[in-house]
Amino acid sequence: MNRDDIKLEKKIFKAVGKAIGDFDMIQDGDHIMVAVSGGKDSWVLLHVLNELQKKAPVNFELTALNIDQGYGNFRQDKIEDFLDSRNIKSIMKDFDIASIVEEKSQGSVPCSLCARLRRGALYGYAQKLKCNKIALGHHLDDFVETLLLNQFFIGKTASMSPKLNSDNGENTVIRPLVYAEENDIRIYAKNIEVPIVCCECPLACGENLHFDHKRRKIKNLLTELEKDIPHIKSSLIKSLSNIKPSHMLDRNLWTH
Ligand code: SF4
Repeated sequence: MNRDDIKLEKKIFKAVGKAIGDFDMIQDGDHIMVAVSGGKDSWVLLHVLNELQKKAPVNFELTALNIDQGYGNFRQDKIEDFLDSRNIKSIMKDFDIASIVEEKSQGSVPCSLCARLRRGALYGYAQKLKCNKIALGHHLDDFVETLLLNQFFIGKTASMSPKLNSDNGENTVIRPLVYAEENDIRIYAKNIEVPIVCCECPLACGENLHFDHKRRKIKNLLTELEKDIPHIKSSLIKSLSNIKPSHMLDRNLWTH
């Protein structure tokens, strides 16, 4: 690794360490299921947690879980082989989300149904595997984009939660990459030579990667603004932890 690579690695580890500390994400005795899709974000998340596990002052267990969602020729074997080569405990599952989505979505954009099914499956597997935490690979850009999407299109000031009790109350979902920027993750994933495997969903892979036009718009806008305001994303993420309730119009936040 050259000096820039080492600097980047330190930056990512520092970001994850800060997130874990700020939101008290990991406790002694935790069994964390890392949802590994085969994409860059979840690979980097798993790699960092796996390294932290070796030197953390608390003991925690990691299990990587991958779900073959039934989209095309998904190369789950590549994911499994890589995890085996790194001696990381892993579970490979098949859950045919593609067929359910095809049957039920009837031509509409199926993503919310697909995401709901996947979330339900993750909760179920975590319970079966006795994992009390589920780690997801959403990063700083996801948080910032979601904030702006909610503000621009829904009239709501909300992003994602860095730590949240699951719908069934059995697990806690954590997002340790909340402070890590997507571009850094992209480069770091290359540096650590993880096998990027596409989910094969026709809406998400290859040229359709940014089929979500609203999110694409927000991404483009942020890229454009970043030229003049280089710190715009870090400022936006900071704004989420620096709310002035009395200066918001939501009277439920007012203390008097
Ligand atoms: S792009 Fe495909 S895999 Fe992703 S949420 Fe939508 S339907 Fe599911």
